[in-house]
Amino acid sequence: MDNVADTALAGSGSGPAIYFDGLSSRRRAVAVAFKEQLEISGEGLSPVSSPVSWAYSDIRRVDGGPGILRVACLSAPSLARLEIRDAAVVAELTSRCARLGENRLDGRGIAKIVGWSLAATISIVVVVLFAIPLAADRLTPLVPEAFEARLGDAAEVQVKTLFGERVCNGAAGQAAFSKLIDTLRKSTDLDIPVQPSVLATPIPNAFALPGGRVYLFNGLLAKAENPDEIAGVLAHELGHLKHRDSLRELIYNGGTSFLIGLLFGDVTGSSAVIFASRSLVTSSYSRDAEQNADTFAIELMQRLGRSPKAMGELLFRITGKEGNRSLSILASHPFTEDRLKRMSDADRPASGSPLLTDAEWSALKSICGPNKS
Ligand SMILES: [Zn+2]
Repeated sequence: MDNVADTALAGSGSGPAIYFDGLSSRRRAVAVAFKEQLEISGEGLSPVSSPVSWAYSDIRRVDGGPGILRVACLSAPSLARLEIRDAAVVAELTSRCARLGENRLDGRGIAKIVGWSLAATISIVVVVLFAIPLAADRLTPLVPEAFEARLGDAAEVQVKTLFGERVCNGAAGQAAFSKLIDTLRKSTDLDIPVQPSVLATPIPNAFALPGGRVYLFNGLLAKAENPDEIAGVLAHELGHLKHRDSLRELIYNGGTSFLIGLLFGDVTGSSAVIFASRSLVTSSYSRDAEQNADTFAIELMQRLGRSPKAMGELLFRITGKEGNRSLSILASHPFTEDRLKRMSDADRPASGSPLLTDAEWSALKSICGPNKS
């Protein structure tokens, strides 16, 4: 404690302080006096020469580090501040201001606000990461099959728009295709009817839609060297149907956009960040679905006494070593090499009869007309 303050306190009950009038950023050395009210006086205060008076009951602590008390006054400009470093003056002021600690907007208050917005951000992230996938998982089994079938109808319209009416239906090929699907389906506990189609597009792919629709692209048939390769891919798609993955994805993606729309509106920036994290989440979410569909396919092929390795070889033939991942919609699937390894590990000598005869296989290969390979 310095001498001046000591003397001043002993004499008139006052001390030195720093004052900000809340109107300018100017820092003023002032004297404070403990009168009926707290009187702040010093050079350059306005109104000139009359002290600023703060009622003790209006004075609130704002913040302050160790050894410093910073206060504001409810009846003063909201940014007006008084800083006191002198311990004796701090003690005196503290004893006079009974409501010093009320409603303070101090560091702890600010920390609270920051904490809450942090908590809000974290809870959004948690909802997007965990709650929506969980909700999708819980909701998917509750969606009635009739509704799922209608969703499938709507999706089929999209498919027809994308690929035109290019459904291949060469009679002999169609018979072979139905036989293959039926054989696969009979070895599963899939309880919905399967509606398979071959589409005349050179893209090597296959996919499943809600309501039991399975689409095989002619491009995949062209690359396939034996029925087991196609059977494995179809089994994978049946796995997606069994787990209702496309429906789950619909709920999941719809749910995510709904929540983001609700929380952020269309605010640029935040939605861009969320979009980025969302596609990240979506891709890791569907990777699980892909792995489960592969497991389903491996088990199904093994039940039929056919090797799951064939499917892995077909995928590997299409995507190559690293995979042309940007072109193929297999991009969301696990790395082809990992899949091939899994399927190769499950390799067994064939114990079941061939899924198609040679004649049926060549009929299926040319279901869309003569194939090059
Ligand atoms: Zn898949």
